[in-house]
Amino acid sequence: MSRDTVEAVFMTAPGRLERRGVPAPRPREGGAVLKTVASEVCGTDVHLFHGRLPGVPYPIVPGHVSVGRLVEKSGRLADVEGREIQIGALVTFYDVYGTCGACWHCLVAKAGTRCPHRRVYGITAPASDGILGGWAESIEILPGVRLVPLPEGVAPEDFLGGGCGLPTGFHAVERAGVRMGDTVVVQGSGPVGLNAAIFAQLSGALRVLVVGAPKARLDAARRLGAEDVLDVSEVPDPAARVRWVRERTSGRGADVVIEASGNPRAVPEGLEMLRDDGRCVVVGQYTDAGDVALNPHRHVNRRHATVLGCWGYEFTHLHRALEMMRRHDARFRWRELVTREYALGEAERALRDMEHLSVVKALIRP
Ligand SMILES: [Zn+2]
Ligand SMILES: [Zn+2]
Repeated sequence: MSRDTVEAVFMTAPGRLERRGVPAPRPREGGAVLKTVASEVCGTDVHLFHGRLPGVPYPIVPGHVSVGRLVEKSGRLADVEGREIQIGALVTFYDVYGTCGACWHCLVAKAGTRCPHRRVYGITAPASDGILGGWAESIEILPGVRLVPLPEGVAPEDFLGGGCGLPTGFHAVERAGVRMGDTVVVQGSGPVGLNAAIFAQLSGALRVLVVGAPKARLDAARRLGAEDVLDVSEVPDPAARVRWVRERTSGRGADVVIEASGNPRAVPEGLEMLRDDGRCVVVGQYTDAGDVALNPHRHVNRRHATVLGCWGYEFTHLHRALEMMRRHDARFRWRELVTREYALGEAERALRDMEHLSVVKALIRP
């Protein structure tokens, strides 16, 4: 290899993408360099492009979940089983770095995803620190970043068909404590919602009902095992949507509601869909999209509801979600969620298609 420059896409400010050649990264002590195979485009990238996430150190190289080939390393790199990762291996990586393991959040609360030092590739990693995003021909792996070899039988397209929605959906289902025989409502049919629908079934849910849009995403939900789907563009009245859930649950509501829609109004609506003593996980409000009114008596207290937020994911979620993918890919065929692939020069097009929901999952293939 050893080219002097590589091409990368920089988001220099909200609304601005620039493609340019930069010096090829070299591994720091304990670090590595990947030749990018592909990287995902997700709703977060659209939020970044619109400047809706606080604290983003533009310019950044977008693309937080990626697959690459290990082409250079400095020192020994091993997986969690202690096996050395060889040059040429096909890997992804846990996209979070900087979690300190020393602060109050890390040590006392044990809430690592809320560590104030935490940085995420492609989102809160400044380009001044290196090519720390997948919309580039190479990705620099900083010392301490955990590489994860793709399991035998899992191709880059399989893993990226799940994308960041794979560990996020896994985390949300784990947090919801889905039990055997549960009826689960998933609000939102994007990658997080679709993966939550998958993992709810794998956790023993009897039935999964998906409330979302547009049709292509709801068709994917059905293919992935949803018993029934409701198109919010065809049923704009929230009360009618709540009725739809109650009609399918003997009037009682769902055992579990997972909100993965991004619309704040989905939260009180989801609580209306929840049975007494049910569990609701809010994972879709990644940006601040505004306030909504709740009725604390009806929605929470009298309902005896458990309401939980779910922020990011930890290494354990990525690792276990990937192992589950290896075991269950024949059933769920994640790669079919990839609707389109784009070259580096088409990154803006990919963002627009994602924004207009004309794709389920989009990949950048440098
Ligand atoms: Zn910390
Ligand atoms: Zn993402």
